[in-house]
Amino acid sequence: MATFGTLSDRLTETFRNLRTKGKLTPADVDGTVREIRRALLDADVALVVVKEFTGKVRERALGDEVNKALNPAQQVVQIVNEELVAILGGQQRRLQFAKTAPTVIMLAGLQGSGKTTFAGKLAKQLEKEGHTPLLVAADLQRPNAVNQLQVVAQQAGAAVYAPEPGNGVGDPVRVARDGVETARRQQHDVVIIDTAGRLGVDAELMKQASNIRTAVDPDEVLFVIDAMSGQDAVNTAKAFQEGVDFTGVVLSKLDGDSKGGAALSVTSITGRPIIYASTGEGLDDLEAFHPDRMASRILD
Ligand code: GDP
Repeated sequence: MATFGTLSDRLTETFRNLRTKGKLTPADVDGTVREIRRALLDADVALVVVKEFTGKVRERALGDEVNKALNPAQQVVQIVNEELVAILGGQQRRLQFAKTAPTVIMLAGLQGSGKTTFAGKLAKQLEKEGHTPLLVAADLQRPNAVNQLQVVAQQAGAAVYAPEPGNGVGDPVRVARDGVETARRQQHDVVIIDTAGRLGVDAELMKQASNIRTAVDPDEVLFVIDAMSGQDAVNTAKAFQEGVDFTGVVLSKLDGDSKGGAALSVTSITGRPIIYASTGEGLDDLEAFHPDRMASRILD
C-alpha cells in the first residue's frame, strides 16, 4: 500500500537514529518528538491531532516507563505504536446490524469520494456472509448516478431499487423511504442507500442528506472519505458531522499514494470510528479496518 509510504519511511529513520542511543536524555526525547511532529505534519495530519499526539508521546517518553525500560528506544517505539492505535480508534468497530431486519445503512460523502463503488463492495461482502442486501439509488443529482449504481449492483449480484428512468428529478427522500419499504416487503435484511454528493460541501446537499436520515432512521450512516483529501479532510468531515452526522467512516482509495493525513485525522476530529478501508476499484477491494494493523503498517 503506497499510502503512508513517506510517513512510514520518516518514522523508521527517526527510530533508527534513536536506537543508536542507550539511555535517553530529555533532549533525545524532544528531538525525536520534533521529528515525529514534522513527519506527521508533512503527511497532512491535522494540526490539532499532531499536537495532541506528540504531547502524549512526549509525556510518556519522559516518564518512568521509558526511564526504567531495558531498551528505552524500543519502549518509545512501543509508545508511538500505542498512541497511533489510539488515534486510529483503538478497538476494531464492526458494522452494526439492527435487531429487527432490515438494517438500514446510509452513505454520505462528497461526489467522487467512492460512495457508489463502496455500496457495491459492501453489498458483495454482505452477500458472501449470507445477507440479502438491497441497494437504493437515492442519488438523483447526477444524471448517471442511478445507472452507475445499477451497474455496480449487477457486478455485485445484488438487487437494486431505483426510480423509473426519466423520473430522475424525483424526490430522493421518497426514493430512500420507498427503498426501505421495498426491502421490508421483499425481505432483504440490509438496505444500502447511496445518496448524492457534491464536489464541495453545500447547504442544500446537507439538508437533503439530513432529510433522508430523518426519513429512514438508519442504523448506520457511513461517511465515505477519499484518503487523498489531505488537509481538506478535516473540514469536510466536520461539515458532514454537523450537517448529517454519521456513525462511522469509510476510508476510500487507501491504495493510492495519499500521504495518509485524512486517515490519521478523521477519527480524532469527529470521534467516529473507521469501519472499512476501500483499497481499489474492484468490488473485492474492501477490508474491515483494524486500528492495530494499520498502526503496524505505518511503523513497519
Ligand atoms: P461517488 O461519486 O462518491 O459515488 O464515487 P464513485 O464510487 O463513483 O468513485 C469515484 C471514482 O473513484 C471512480 O472512478 C471509482 O472507480 C474510484 N474509486 C472508488 N473507490 C476506490 C478505491 O478504493 N481505490 C481506487 N483506486 N479508486 C476508487
